[in-house]
Amino acid sequence: MKTLKTLAPLIARLTEIQHLKSAASLLSWDQETYMPAGGGEARADQLATLEGLAHDKLVSPDVKGWLGQWVDPTSGLARETGAEPWDEPSRALLREVWRDYSRANKLPSEFVTRLAREASLSQQVWVEARAQNDFKKFLPNLRTLVALKREEAGYVGYQASPYDALMDSYEPGMTVAHITPLFAALKAGLLPLLRRVLDSPIRIDDSFLHRTYEADRQMEFGKLVLTAMGYDFTRGRLDLSAHPFTTSFHPTDVRVTTRVFETDLPSCLFSCIHEGGHGLYDQGLEPERYGTPLGDSLSLGIHESQSRLWENSVGRSLSFWRCFYPMLQQVFPHQLPGVSLEQFHAAINRVQPSLIRVEADELTYNLHIMIRYEIERALIEDGMDVADLPGAWNEKMRTYLGIVPETDSTGVLQDVHWSMGAIGYFPTYTLGNLYAAQFYDQARLEILNLEDHIAAGQLTVLTKWLNQKIHRWGRTFTVEHLVRRVTGGSLSPQPFLDYVEQKYGQLYRLG
Ligand code: ZN
Repeated sequence: MKTLKTLAPLIARLTEIQHLKSAASLLSWDQETYMPAGGGEARADQLATLEGLAHDKLVSPDVKGWLGQWVDPTSGLARETGAEPWDEPSRALLREVWRDYSRANKLPSEFVTRLAREASLSQQVWVEARAQNDFKKFLPNLRTLVALKREEAGYVGYQASPYDALMDSYEPGMTVAHITPLFAALKAGLLPLLRRVLDSPIRIDDSFLHRTYEADRQMEFGKLVLTAMGYDFTRGRLDLSAHPFTTSFHPTDVRVTTRVFETDLPSCLFSCIHEGGHGLYDQGLEPERYGTPLGDSLSLGIHESQSRLWENSVGRSLSFWRCFYPMLQQVFPHQLPGVSLEQFHAAINRVQPSLIRVEADELTYNLHIMIRYEIERALIEDGMDVADLPGAWNEKMRTYLGIVPETDSTGVLQDVHWSMGAIGYFPTYTLGNLYAAQFYDQARLEILNLEDHIAAGQLTVLTKWLNQKIHRWGRTFTVEHLVRRVTGGSLSPQPFLDYVEQKYGQLYRLG
């Protein structure tokens, strides 16, 4: 049996590439947390150099030589020659490295550097444009980025839609043809349920969530929950940033960020739990496989399934708050007296069409994603003019959610993604919600009395299950294979629709 030992020179190179990528991630983390504003230009150059180097090291002649020897370029799978077959990890590694290599090999290194530099600069312009509610300021950068992404799709190649080529780098194998009917089914279930909720006579009061909650105590409680989830602070840290995110340099150094608003308790709380879910995934990858696809997370949709499972299935459940609500009341003794557990649970699940995606409830969240998905396809497939974005955005908000933002800061400028050139990324959020519902259903079947464990604060039974079933495997299986392995089925909107129907049916006493 040929093992990973045979692949040693390739693995050494992949590790070297990962070192460069980890250094770039650290620079990006710093840019989002502590870098002084003046450092922006220089940082963009630094990042572009590192990304260019990582790219060159992957598409080099020696990698080409190794892969030529070990991989069949037609199937993209390990070449079975000689008497000795490959073992499973080697086969998976070769399949995934080939995937990365062939994608990267299609992109000219000059293009990679240009995109990285533009993305880094645009991100900084976006921060200012959003703060000043000035879409026009961001427009030239965005126009350049959209053009670059169309250029990228051209290099990568596609069969049906250029959008497929972009989405594939975030969610391998996912296509417009697959996702569009799935989203349609989801929409067909969500819109009538939302209507019933909004027509229900039940009015949930959440005003107490907007009393003044001291920032340092919010952070303290966030850390407490992260620790209970099994997030290891000796291998991680929590900082502040404009847009919460998780980044990993190695399974032993996985960092999460949050943001704090003193009159909005859920914001910091749920972004800590959400990013904690991402953080557990990255801390749960195999350190010995660092640098190789076997030690890398599988897809953004699967990554998001981990954060949404924790944030929503666990963090917005009554069981969870049976344990944590008394602790929250202790941390905020003046803000929550007289608010019962049930009132608190209802308040954090209140449905209200709102402007900001990251603060949206579970019922309206996916509608925010559909708006972005439709706009991105119009930009990439139909050549929609970037200047028309604010109008298109507001129109879709009216159609799906019945509300229109008064400013672009709370509308088309709210998300960081486009400024980073991350087009094709948004659908992975909805995929994450769907996978999360499927995984959580399975966890409840397999972990005896899971909800009792959660109600007792024993969250790590779930962490361990996720680690065994999902985290530790890295990219050993394809997304489809992993989902089948864990749940016995394939991607479907039905478990999520059943979950929201049951949850909001109870909260809003729908008949
Ligand atoms: Zn996330």
